[in-house]
Amino acid sequence: MTINEIIARLEGGNARFVEDHLDGKLQDSSRRNSLTGGQQPYAIVLSCADSRVVPELAFDTGLGELFVVRVAGNVANTSSIASIEYAVAHIGTKVIVVLGHESCGAVTAAVQGGDNGYNLNHLLAHVSPALSASDEGAEVNDVVKTNAKLTAQELVARSTIIKSAVDKGDLKIAPAYYHLGTGKVEFL
Ligand SMILES: [Zn+2]
Repeated sequence: MTINEIIARLEGGNARFVEDHLDGKLQDSSRRNSLTGGQQPYAIVLSCADSRVVPELAFDTGLGELFVVRVAGNVANTSSIASIEYAVAHIGTKVIVVLGHESCGAVTAAVQGGDNGYNLNHLLAHVSPALSASDEGAEVNDVVKTNAKLTAQELVARSTIIKSAVDKGDLKIAPAYYHLGTGKVEFL
């Protein structure tokens, strides 16, 4: 599939999810057996860990279709970037969706500030560029969108593997925003 065909497939799957018409294909034993020798996912999704945001459902995909990396706040840290690099370099996956979502707890914590302990402070530091780029008193959901866009840029800035694939036209990075109630994925 071309990059445009992949985006169209994701949009089509999301439309089925929104309309409660999941086709639920590629989730059975024959699909499992067809994948034991390897994987060829056509898209990478960098998603938050939030239980309400499930990329495989939101895009109506089955086994082996999406390479999903999940971390609170869908941030680009060393581990999430390394995971994405694997799919780009070794599988040749052509699309990365950076999927922020409505009412994100991690972004809310970053907006509220304060000391959240060593580990969460470390994670929330990756959201701080989005805070800096937002107006004082900005709505959490606006910061979420800014965070998705800046994270897309960060992936290129911090990875020569990702940058080189983007420069060659082999890879597209698409920031997006997931609406909790409708299930709609809005590409930003
Ligand atoms: Zn979240």
